[in-house]
Amino acid sequence: MKAHIELPQAFGATTDRDVLQAYSADPLHVAMPDAVVRPKNVEEVSRILAYCNEKRIPVTACGNQTSLTAAAITDQGILMSSERLDASWRIEEDTQMPGRWLAFVGVAANLAAFQDDLAAQGFFYPPDPTSRAEVMVGATVATNASGEDSFKYGSTRRWVRGLQYVRADGEVRNVMRDAKQVANGSKNSCGLPIRDSEVDLLIGSEGTLGILTQVIVEVLPKVPDYVSMLVFLNSEQSVLSAVQQIVAEAGPELRCCEYMDNAALDILREHADDFSCPDETNAVLYLKAEFEGDSSLVVESWYTRFESLFSKMGTPHLADAIQVFEDPPGQRRLREWRHLVPATINERAARFRDFGGGKVSSDWYVPVDQIAEMMAEVRRDQGSSKWIVFGHIGNGHPHFNFIAEDLRQYQHDRMLLFKHCEAAVRRGGGVSAEHGIGKKKAKLLETQYSASEVQEMLAVKKSFDPNRILAPGNIFAAHLWHR
Ligand SMILES: Cc1cc2nc3c(=O)[nH]c(=O)nc-3n(C[C@H](O)[C@H](O)[C@H](O)COP(=O)(O)OP(=O)(O)OC[C@H]3O[C@@H](n4cnc5c(N)ncnc54)[C@H](O)[C@@H]3O)c2cc1C
Repeated sequence: MKAHIELPQAFGATTDRDVLQAYSADPLHVAMPDAVVRPKNVEEVSRILAYCNEKRIPVTACGNQTSLTAAAITDQGILMSSERLDASWRIEEDTQMPGRWLAFVGVAANLAAFQDDLAAQGFFYPPDPTSRAEVMVGATVATNASGEDSFKYGSTRRWVRGLQYVRADGEVRNVMRDAKQVANGSKNSCGLPIRDSEVDLLIGSEGTLGILTQVIVEVLPKVPDYVSMLVFLNSEQSVLSAVQQIVAEAGPELRCCEYMDNAALDILREHADDFSCPDETNAVLYLKAEFEGDSSLVVESWYTRFESLFSKMGTPHLADAIQVFEDPPGQRRLREWRHLVPATINERAARFRDFGGGKVSSDWYVPVDQIAEMMAEVRRDQGSSKWIVFGHIGNGHPHFNFIAEDLRQYQHDRMLLFKHCEAAVRRGGGVSAEHGIGKKKAKLLETQYSASEVQEMLAVKKSFDPNRILAPGNIFAAHLWHR
């Protein structure tokens, strides 16, 4: 039975069933909160948290609920939506580091709107989850999101300079990192970086340490020009050897190195307007290369590189099939095609939710020199299952997607996923590069970290949120508290 929660009227909380229903799902999971609050400013967030802390009422933050790990839904206590918080932004020159620029961004700002507006003013903010048009900037910080351009620009953490957040007891904190510190932009969205700054602790903390209300991010004073390319290959094996070479040889111009297998290509063949590829294609690489001045030079140099690669592979004609996208509408279309793949998988998987099925997807990563062996190890478990694989191959971070049609299959796929995560950790990688572990993958915390590291994370959590009201179940599975 659901708990009955008493909240002061001034909080504007709702327990209306239709409203609760509207906040009860992410793309893959459902959980019904007891109440929803939508504070309008930091003072309201502070008052609500102070009250809930005193009464021991759980509070889970959400942005636009695109999380894939049930991190932004809850069936315990209140769901606190960020949607009415500040969504504005302003840019200022960094007073500590003249020549560098900072954006002060309300957490409710839509990432794509923020980035597009910046670009119109000649500034560039690189983090770019595929879901950028659907997500709030604050939530991308709370998950340490990454995207296709993370090959060059790293994860969100790399760009965060400071933030404002509210602790569980209602205290409002404004924290900045040292401007000279270069933040670690490597992809990892599992757990808390225990020995790092207060700013770093909050990044990727999935709502467990505080509610973010503003983020301060570094932006670059120039929007780089780039060309996008689709390079078609006839096997995954060819992709893996091409990637090793590309990553070893590529200079700083390479911005993105993404992969889609034949099953992902099938989604494009079926659903993407204007998409075409050679008949023998079984795999594709999606690359972006930056340039200054004349685009033809960069296009020519990549074409020459692939000509030689393809001739070594015995498929020289595939060089002629490379598709180059130089104009913004073409590049946008390509991005939309790329987004279509996970969006279609999520839609397909949701159909099996009522039968206990759904999507099980990997977010593990390994050092790129391990990716060929890791993929071979994982593929050995495939049997006759239909998997869809796409993602950030240049970072050693492809997403394997299993669509389970019933509960038995779902449990089997989860078992495989956990096995593959263990293998990724053994190979020097981790269990989640960008989505976070939320509730659905919280058990993987112990796969990636030693018992003493987990204990240190629990100690951090206790010091921020002694009554454990924030985002119960996210990152820290219930059993960890009973040891
Ligand atoms: C089709 C699709 C593609 C995707 N592609 C990518 C991708 O390429 N890269 C990637 O990294 N992710 C991707 N995601 C996952 C998701 O979009 C990201 O995790 C995103 O950062 C979530 O943003 P959101 O606004 O939907 O936040 P939500 O899903 O609502 O919340 C995400 C997390 O942030 C916390 N949170 C939200 N707001 C606050 C706040 N104000 N204070 C504290 N904590 C808060 C929540 O508690 C939760 O833990 C994808 C999802 C979909 C559906």
